[in-house]
Amino acid sequence: MEDKKSLAKWDKRYIWHPFTQMKDYLESEPLVIERGEGFYLIDVEGKRYIDGVSSLWVLVHGHSKKELIDVLKSQAETLCHSTLLGIANVPSILLAKKIVDITPDGLTKVFYSDNGSTSVEIALKMAYQFWQQRGEKRRKRFIKFSNAYHGDTIGSVSVGGIDLFHNLYRPLLFKTYKAPSPYCYRCPLKLKKETCGLACVSEFEKIVKRYKDEVCAVIIEPIVQGAAGMIIQPRGFLSAIWKISKENGLLFIADEVATGFGRTGSMFACEHEDVKPDFMCLSKSITGGYLPLAVTLTTEEVFNGFLGNFEDFKTFFHGHTYTGNPLACAVALKNLELYESEKIIEKLESKIQLLTNELKRFLELPCIGEVRQKGFMVGIELVQNKKTKKPYAPKEKIGQKVILEARKRGVVIRPLGDVIVLMPPLAIDEKTLIELVDITYKSIEKVTTL
Ligand SMILES: *Cc1c(COP(=O)(O)O)cnc(C)c1O
Repeated sequence: MEDKKSLAKWDKRYIWHPFTQMKDYLESEPLVIERGEGFYLIDVEGKRYIDGVSSLWVLVHGHSKKELIDVLKSQAETLCHSTLLGIANVPSILLAKKIVDITPDGLTKVFYSDNGSTSVEIALKMAYQFWQQRGEKRRKRFIKFSNAYHGDTIGSVSVGGIDLFHNLYRPLLFKTYKAPSPYCYRCPLKLKKETCGLACVSEFEKIVKRYKDEVCAVIIEPIVQGAAGMIIQPRGFLSAIWKISKENGLLFIADEVATGFGRTGSMFACEHEDVKPDFMCLSKSITGGYLPLAVTLTTEEVFNGFLGNFEDFKTFFHGHTYTGNPLACAVALKNLELYESEKIIEKLESKIQLLTNELKRFLELPCIGEVRQKGFMVGIELVQNKKTKKPYAPKEKIGQKVILEARKRGVVIRPLGDVIVLMPPLAIDEKTLIELVDITYKSIEKVTTL
């Protein structure tokens, strides 16, 4: 083991960190993680931190889970990798069968990749090619939502709606139609949730009616727009959007990369409103946080649209080198078996309730605009002025200050702009959950009432 000082120095010298202003980072003391144990991360100094964002939305059963490590070891001794281009491997078959079993009806085909962005790219390309091969050549556009986040590759950025991340790249992106996001706290239509009658759904319908002949598909993060700061859709929004899409002959892509595998309290967010999409993108928690893996699920109808004689070239010409990696698939399968044997979803209900109760007192703080929660996804929106909802000035770096304060107190969390997010591992125990919320509260209080 290298000494701690050298590691920190080399990190600064050699690594460019994602979504990180490196000027600030180079001036800071880096947190270098060495080990994971249950719901804790442990740094090179031996200091322990509650993993409050599940190592970025992925951790389910905790770090160092013996069953997952055992499967990984035994698969490593059997086969580490073999391509899916034209040949098959055992773990990818077993996992695909399992995933088709547990996802909404109609999704029967599994296409593998290795991260959320590519799972979205694949759905977009499949939807487009499906229509092209049907002879509907005019269909080249997608309908997306403002505040959407679908990943960082150029295709997934094209269907993104977070100006801060996406605007600069506009000239490189393909054209889309953008429907308003149901961000009720800051309604884009300037209406009140109690009386709006879901006017944003009508706005969506207008776009559909006007452009449907040139649209391939609608893409949405069902129930919660995660990266935008945990924006939770009002009841009935998702099912209304889905119905309108289907009535108008459009394909429907549910990006459950963040919401999938229990995050919202049910296995998949689409289940809350009985939505049956034509595509479902899954990644993040699929391996319980142990290895990178993603899938794009679709229907027989879409799949059949790609069948033909070899020389017709209706093949889906897409695939990544590590597509269907056996290590990742074996761990994912074990992860899903643990959901059942350890009753992860069943046990979540009471912890969600506990979390709701623990979050109540946050609204007493002067700087909290809104506390949003769906299942184990929490967004705490900080504002400079509660009455006017005026945000903090960016240079105050308020979110950054809060997470650094939390770090001092033994919690790792991340801000999304001025929204502090909590995404505890689903299997977390109540005591650690309460401690996580308590430290978050104290950190916000300290930073905002100085
Ligand atoms: C994180 C995320 C992605 C991108 O996944 P990566 O693995 O980071 O590429 C796509 N869609 C949603 C909804 C996400 O939350």
